[in-house]
Amino acid sequence: MPTNPMPRSETRGKLIVISGPSGAGKTSICTALLADLPGAVWSVSATTRPMRPGDVPGVSYEFLTREEFARREAAGEFLESAEYVGHRYGTPRAPLEQALRRGQSVILEIDVQGGMQVAARMPDSIRVFVLPPDAESLRARLEGRKTEAGEQLTRRLAKADGEIATARDSGCYPYFVVNDVLETTVEQVKAIITREQQKA
Ligand code: ADP
Ligand code: 5GP
Repeated sequence: MPTNPMPRSETRGKLIVISGPSGAGKTSICTALLADLPGAVWSVSATTRPMRPGDVPGVSYEFLTREEFARREAAGEFLESAEYVGHRYGTPRAPLEQALRRGQSVILEIDVQGGMQVAARMPDSIRVFVLPPDAESLRARLEGRKTEAGEQLTRRLAKADGEIATARDSGCYPYFVVNDVLETTVEQVKAIITREQQKA
């Protein structure tokens, strides 16, 4: 987990959940948040998906076989888990708990199924759903990222409307932000986090 300097705090850290369709800009937003929030850490998820260009094992994800993922899931090692376009994803519980106990904020970039599980298990988490400005921008961003092609790209785009509807209907996301201009979105998310931390 990359980490900023530790805050001097006796209080438990906040869990921050960022969800949204593939290509909406979650990773871009989380990267900016990590640079700006003192003591914040990124939760490194486990996944069975193949590595793609730019992925660094142990930094972007822990890359596991299906068998290893299933074994760790059965052992209760994940806070939440989901299947997304044919691959498993899960949030390892232990490092997250350790960071929260140290008073650090932990950022989870997870899909809507995972976000709903976290809402049920950790209701005091801060949950934000990122929307693209429109369907064309989403397609352009995902195509422009050049990390998926063919069936993977089609399946991710086809899921977007359903994910947005699920997020809205579930009531698990108190905050929806439209990621039009990245810098503005990051400021909006930072303002949400500050407001929620003050409430706590
Ligand atoms: P996600 O993590 O939600 O799949 P990414 O953060 O990888 O999305 O963003 C998808 C692509 O869109 C990336 O190439 C990223 O640089 C670009 N992008 C992110 N936010 C914006 C924005 N506000 N305007 C234009 N391009 C963006
Ligand atoms: P990608 O393959 O593009 O990295 O991620 C695909 C989707 O899986 C994204 O919506 C991403 O947020 C989500 N995801 C990544 N890690 C996790 C996780 O640990 N749990 C869940 N539920 N979703 C995750």
